[in-house]
Parts: sequence; C-alpha cells; structure tokens
Amino acid sequence: RAKQSGRASYQFYTPEMVAQADAAYALEAMLKEALQSGGLELHYQPVVDIKSGKPIGAEALARLIGHDGRTINPARFIPVAESAGLIGALGEWVAAEACRQHAAWLNEGMRVVIAINVSPLQFRQRDFAQRLGTIVAEQGVEPHGIQVELTESAVMDNVDEAIEILNQLKSFGVKIALDDFGTGYSSLSSLSSLPLDKLKVDQSFVRRIERDPASRAIARAMIALGRALNLEIVGEGIESEHTLEYLRSEGCDQAQGFWVSHPMPPSEFVQWYRNQHAS
Ligand code: C2E
Ligand code: MG
Ligand code: MG
Ligand code: MG
Repeated sequence: RAKQSGRASYQFYTPEMVAQADAAYALEAMLKEALQSGGLELHYQPVVDIKSGKPIGAEALARLIGHDGRTINPARFIPVAESAGLIGALGEWVAAEACRQHAAWLNEGMRVVIAINVSPLQFRQRDFAQRLGTIVAEQGVEPHGIQVELTESAVMDNVDEAIEILNQLKSFGVKIALDDFGTGYSSLSSLSSLPLDKLKVDQSFVRRIERDPASRAIARAMIALGRALNLEIVGEGIESEHTLEYLRSEGCDQAQGFWVSHPMPPSEFVQWYRNQHAS
C-alpha cells in the first residue's frame, strides 16, 4: 500500500514497480493453476563421470509451461512461489514427480540418480524432511536414487538445525549436495561439520575458467577443498571441452553443463541416455 503522505504519495509506486507487481501476480495465478492441472514439467540435465563421460544421473529442473506453450524458467517463478507461499507445494510436486520418474526409469532398466533442488525456505519448513521421506518411500526409490541440492544460505543460516535435517534426510537414503558452492557465505568449519556428499562448484567460476585466471584459481581451490573433505565434486556450467579438461586435470569427479548436454524433457533424456550406453 502506498504511504499516505500527502501530495507525493502517488509517487511511491513507479510504473516499473506496478508492471512488476502485475507480472508477479499473473505468475502466481499461473503457478497455482499449474500445480492443480499439470502445467509444470521437470527437465533433466545429465551429470556424467568426468573421466569416462558415462552418465551418473540427472538434475531435475522445473519448468512452468504457459498457455501459449512457452516455457518459463525457475529464475522467474521460484521467487514468486516463495513470496506467495507456494514453495512447499511446488517442492513436493517436484519431489514426487522426480521419484515417480526415477522408479519408472528403473522399471525400464535405466538407473538414473535424480537430483532435486530445494529452496532455503522449503528446507526450513516444519516437517520438510519427514514429508520428503514419505514421498521417497511411497515411490519405490532405490537407496541413493534421489539427491537433494541445497545452497549455502539454506544450510549456513542455522547450522545445528541444518545438520539435524540433513541427517534425517540421509536416514531415508537421500544424498546431499551443496549447490552453487562459492556464491554464499560458508564458514569452512561449518562446512566440515555438515553431513554432505557432494559439492557443486558454481557455474559463475566454471564459465570463466578459460578467460579469467582468478576464476581458474578459485575453481581449483574449491576442488582441493572438496577433496580434503572427502566429497564428490561436480563442475556445473561447463560450456567447453577446454573447461572440462581443466576441471578433470584438477581432480573434479563429475561434469554438468551445456558442453555435455542441455536440460531435456524426459523423452529426449531417454534417447540421450540410450545413445551414451550404446557408444
Ligand atoms: P541450479 O540448481 O544451479 O541449476 C543449474 C542451472 O544452470 C539450470 O538453470 C541449468 O539449465 C543451467 N545450466 C546448466 N548448464 C549450464 C551451462 O553450461 N551454461 C549455462 N549458462 N547455464 C547452464 P535453470 O533450469 O534455469 O534453473 C535455475 C535455478 O533455478 C537452479 O539453479 C535452481 O537453483 C533453481 N531451480 C530449478 N528447478 C528448481 C526446483 O524444482 N525447485 C527449486 N527450489 N529451485 C529450482
Ligand atoms: Mg541445482
Ligand atoms: Mg547450481
Ligand atoms: Mg543456481
């Protein structure tokens, strides 16, 4: 609500702010509808072993499909879901769909470890771990068939509580990855006390490896840190062979990025996966 401060009050909202609010409202309505009537999809981006190129799993990335068939990316609708109180419902849809897909692929002889993203807000919701555990158990997921990706802000906010939630997740056979590593404010001592399995080196460093010596040095240091902590290390945002070679030579374990493959709808992912196994 605009402040009632006399003549100037109408200036509180700029036209840009109004346009943004309208867009957020439209997105919120779309998202609500999509959650009820199937307007959401998961696309899958392969993660491969950096040495052999063999598929290890896939990251599930949410897509909102508009009435005109256009795809809206999570950078736009996740913040709206968070502010509209829809992130819990969205997160549970993502988890259930990923588990369903994992089990369906397993039935067809495809063993695909699927990673899902969990927003900090969702992570801190009461009963989050318990509810995820129920979803995983209902769908017949293999142990370690599902991974959860969390950002630093999700786990560093309250480390003791985070450790408790993570241990609960691990008791359900879920693996934990720290996503976008290097963009938040991890305390190194906290990092070593968290029950993590994986570290994902953020793409802001990876994408600059070729051009920027500082990013190269940072990526290298993060790999060394991950190894020292006995974590699997994934390079994300790999867009060139040169970058992949650099990360491999520094001891990175797994690769993800456009150079390997873009995210794909499930049917395309199946084709990609079968081609990899054929070759
Ligand atoms: P993220 O988890 O770090 O996912 C990686 C993002 O980088 C994806 O964008 C992917 O398409 C993009 N990407 C992968 N390889 C490359 C590359 O080589 N170059 C470039 N330029 N980009 C690459 P996307 O799908 O738009 O997702 C953006 C972010 O939205 C994700 O970042 C994640 O934080 C969030 N997100 C996606 N799906 C979900 C979800 O289901 N729930 C929640 N809470 N967040 C999600
Ligand atoms: Mg992720
Ligand atoms: Mg990431
Ligand atoms: Mg990200």
